Amino acid sequence: MTKPKVLITGASSGLGLALAKRLNQDYCLILHASKEENIKELREGNYVLAADFSNPDELNEFCKKLKKDHGDDLFAVINNAGITIDKPLVFQPERDIDKMLMVNLKAPIMITKTVIKLFGLKKRGVVIQMSSCVAETGNAFQSVYSAAKAGLIAFTKSIAKEVANLYDNHRIRVLSVSPGFIETPMTDAVPQTEKEKYLTMIPAQRFGKPEEVAETIAFLLSEKASYINGSNIDINGGLF
Ligand code: NAD
Repeated sequence: MTKPKVLITGASSGLGLALAKRLNQDYCLILHASKEENIKELREGNYVLAADFSNPDELNEFCKKLKKDHGDDLFAVINNAGITIDKPLVFQPERDIDKMLMVNLKAPIMITKTVIKLFGLKKRGVVIQMSSCVAETGNAFQSVYSAAKAGLIAFTKSIAKEVANLYDNHRIRVLSVSPGFIETPMTDAVPQTEKEKYLTMIPAQRFGKPEEVAETIAFLLSEKASYINGSNIDINGGLF
């Protein structure tokens, strides 16, 4: 039996790579990175699709290729690719604001637009957006990033409702997950003093591991999670 296809954006490192390793057995993966050569692992038996999502033309081309090459047997999409450029808003150049909104919000919206249409034909599929705890808490120097991640949660809930208006007897689910502080290259860049401050806010008394986020997403993709829809799932050790 052929394996269902799952697209993971930002599969070259951190959460995306951990997720790819977790799903590799059960699914045929479409591994996305901003550059083709960034995908160094798990190429065998899977596909690689590169695009810089901060570039509107590349994003557009990516969506077209996804539909053309994988549209027939795509089962799920994890919109994981994301970027932080931490600064006080008053010092944030407009080009950085545009980049964060493109990669963190517009790209997931355009990819969802592409695949919801495809899923509608089979009335089956799952979309999972990678949001963040800061969508709910806010975070100084991450105002635009937080706004984009909060936008993803509202977008997710709206699309879940929209799907129900478009299709009867469907099994399409749209979800978001909001990790807290997870040990990846993105959080490696956080200064030690900041890390210690975060730790005091986490009842689990430790940072999360990429594998813990991957495990949650693997469950959400499975039939065991068939009644979880339109939800945002916190994976944060109780962070407040
Ligand atoms: P990471 O930096 O290791 O991975 C980010 C991924 O996004 C990379 O694969 C990268 O190639 C891709 N990406 C970055 N810019 C891109 C661009 N212009 N075009 C296309 N792809 C691009 O970070 P991570 O921690 O693994 O983050 C993965 C996701 O999880 C992000 O959306 C991030 O916002 C979210 N997140 C992470 C944490 C955490 O604590 N690590 C917490 C909450 C949410």
